Amino acid sequence: MIEVRSESRERLAAFLESTNVGLWEWNIDTGEFHINERWAQMLGYEWSEVAPMSVKRWEELLHPLDRHSNLEKITDMLEQKTDQYDCVVRLRHKSGDWRWIHTRGVIFNDPNDGHQWFVGSHSDITEYKQAQQQLDQLAESLPGIIYTFVQKADGSRSFAYMSRKTEDFYGFPPEVGVRNPDKVFEAVHPEDLDMVNQTITQSYESLTEWVCDYRVLVGNKASWVRGISTPEKDPDGTVTWHGMVINIDQQKRLEEELKRLSVTDELTGAFNRRYILKEMEAQLQAHHRYDQPFSLISIDIDHFKSTNDNFGHVFGDEVLRAFAEIVQSRIRETDSFARIGGEEFLILMPHTRLNDAYTLAEDLRESFQNHVLKPSEEQSYHVTLSAGVLECSGPELATVADLLLACDKSLYQAKHEGRNRAVTYQP
Ligand code: GH3
Ligand code: MG
Ligand code: MG
Repeated sequence: MIEVRSESRERLAAFLESTNVGLWEWNIDTGEFHINERWAQMLGYEWSEVAPMSVKRWEELLHPLDRHSNLEKITDMLEQKTDQYDCVVRLRHKSGDWRWIHTRGVIFNDPNDGHQWFVGSHSDITEYKQAQQQLDQLAESLPGIIYTFVQKADGSRSFAYMSRKTEDFYGFPPEVGVRNPDKVFEAVHPEDLDMVNQTITQSYESLTEWVCDYRVLVGNKASWVRGISTPEKDPDGTVTWHGMVINIDQQKRLEEELKRLSVTDELTGAFNRRYILKEMEAQLQAHHRYDQPFSLISIDIDHFKSTNDNFGHVFGDEVLRAFAEIVQSRIRETDSFARIGGEEFLILMPHTRLNDAYTLAEDLRESFQNHVLKPSEEQSYHVTLSAGVLECSGPELATVADLLLACDKSLYQAKHEGRNRAVTYQP
């Protein structure tokens, strides 16, 4: 209950006038309804044109779509479910336009007359509402979500604004994310969540632009998005980011496809030379640093020139593909298989000793030799291969070039000794 000493009443009245808000008071017991000058002016009227006000007259000014929510809030107030009435409604201006009015009030028991008064204020927020509508329209025309994200010094996070498109990207309306920011983070792909959080922390600390590509899960469907936003720091340590989230799904798929193509041999689907040389370099480093063993099998198809000469280049290609399929079906997931030249291949096997590599080479040699190739319906044909096998150990195989040379040496020996065989490298 508010008590006002009589000597400060005039000061209070002056103070209220200076706030430029419309004032109203409604006697719940008698229906008496007072408004001030500003209340009337806000709607384009002279005070004398609308006073005395009545509940009925007030309801006539109220936008039909706002009647229900307003009535609910007044009822809650009168039934003491809330102790403050707070509502945004549209009221009809004298010109016929609608003005957005933020109205607030409390119940006040006046000890002087013993009556219950419902008293409150009107603020005109039409310009703010219009700006918000313009922002929403602008956001609608953009290809992504725009948002304002806030992280306080105590680590708490919230979204001050999220545009409509949140629903298209995250599968829930922006109100849900604004009410419960956890929902937004829960929709991030579990494998990307740590990275998202780390980059936000980095941006918070360094106040540099946040740019992050991550996946968002809606049901079981993952989509790639890119978040870009600029942080601003308040003196109290609060950082606010204004930014945008755009869909980069197509771009990511294209990137992944290009990446795959850039390391793949088109004919056989094996890796290409560039890729395997890089892998060999990485294995060599791991070997020198941690003494991890690894092995290589170098393969060259025997008499391939005559296969081509006898049955044509197209059949030759088929042989290369058939060989690649045999290899792919036998190597482990950690092994890498590459085509490094016309009919020359390499298999790189991390954590593998010479014996195991030799066993695989022999298995491949035998399988390929027994594989029936069909240059035509009636014909059956067999092709063989020669292989050089080596384990990288000891200091003399220090570079990729050393390894390739050693492979060549044992392969040459296999050819020299009659082909269709695997030969291990002897330093
Ligand atoms: P060797 O047993 O000594 O290895 O004899 P080879 O005939 O296999 O050796 P050589 O290196 O002289 O010949 C390789 C042949 O592979 C020559 C070339 O026509 C053929 N070749 C290279 N690339 C391709 C390809 O992409 N497709 C087909 N069909 N043939 C290819
Ligand atoms: Mg060759
Ligand atoms: Mg050959």
